[in-house]
Amino acid sequence: MSKFQGNRLNGIKPYVPGEQPKQDNLIKLNTNENPYPPSPNVAKAISSFDAEKFKLYPDYDCTKLREAICQNLTKYEGANVSPKNIFVGNGSDEVIALMFMAFFDSGNSGSPILFPDITYSFAPVWADIFDIPYKTIPLEKDFSIDPEKYCVPNGGTVIANPNAPTGICMSLSDIEIILNANTEKVCIIDEAYIDFGGTTAAALINTYPNLAVVRTFSKSHSLAGLRVGYAIASEELIADIDIVKNSFNSYTVNCLTLVAAEAAIKDREYFEKTRNEIIATREDVSVSLRTMGYYVSESKANFIFVSHPDIKAEIIFNELRSKNILVRYFNKPNIDNCLRISIGTREQMDTLIEALC
Ligand code: PMP
Repeated sequence: MSKFQGNRLNGIKPYVPGEQPKQDNLIKLNTNENPYPPSPNVAKAISSFDAEKFKLYPDYDCTKLREAICQNLTKYEGANVSPKNIFVGNGSDEVIALMFMAFFDSGNSGSPILFPDITYSFAPVWADIFDIPYKTIPLEKDFSIDPEKYCVPNGGTVIANPNAPTGICMSLSDIEIILNANTEKVCIIDEAYIDFGGTTAAALINTYPNLAVVRTFSKSHSLAGLRVGYAIASEELIADIDIVKNSFNSYTVNCLTLVAAEAAIKDREYFEKTRNEIIATREDVSVSLRTMGYYVSESKANFIFVSHPDIKAEIIFNELRSKNILVRYFNKPNIDNCLRISIGTREQMDTLIEALC
């Protein structure tokens, strides 16, 4: 810490991303990356990209990508939306951070925003850095979210659906309970993992002006390294996010990323093939581990949340690490006996199961 640090950083504990080890021979199941490469059309789009275009700034409105996202949502997800309902950013982390600034009040005068005590651990970090008061709501014993507990005065709500690191999904009717509880404040539904079996809330944006859904290309489109995420919300909410972006950095998404993401979202066949394979692998691995005596969450994500009745999670974590398998262990209250294991290829998961036998 330098002596020049401003008081905004007082007490800030930054988010700690999962380890990105330099070692090659590792089975990496710790950061919920997709084990399959992106659509071959992504490589084609990148190799035919004219580098001369780098001399110009990118399209700060991300027009073509927003159109492609919109067509996808309308055609495959029953969400009747227009490009004006879409905001694209440099990863969904950035999109959510901009939303915290756009919608949640700072200082101590307002009600706190609400999110579960066990959820994406970036939520309290954004709240702290933007000085937004927050309150966490405990998950139920089975790790589910009780929407009724969010029906109290609040400055907004943030729900990851499926939740992380549990993978457990809320129904749309439960989400509607939260949306109806406080129509004066925004509810962010973070759908980073929705493509692996959950039901999207995207179509609800036409009914609920206080709903903002966030998605990413990092997981189901295998583009974590490119950094693209987007929001789906009413035109008015999107305009508010734009105000924050354009007061901060107008060109958040680079021109190469824009064409690569467009190629990925247009290849529906490849998307379906790879995400279906991940879902099928998750279900098979869950059955195998349960047979071996493990608790395995009912996950609708590309990871499972696992514990053993007799062996401590930290011991299993270290044992797997010694066998070159990296999973995620959170040394945090209530979940310090669980491991989050990303779904890899069939072969990787077979090796995992063998190591756990
Ligand atoms: N939300 C959740 C629940 C996540 O787990 C992640 C990945 N760490 C993100 C958002 C952010 O994803 P990205 O910034 O790669 O789009």
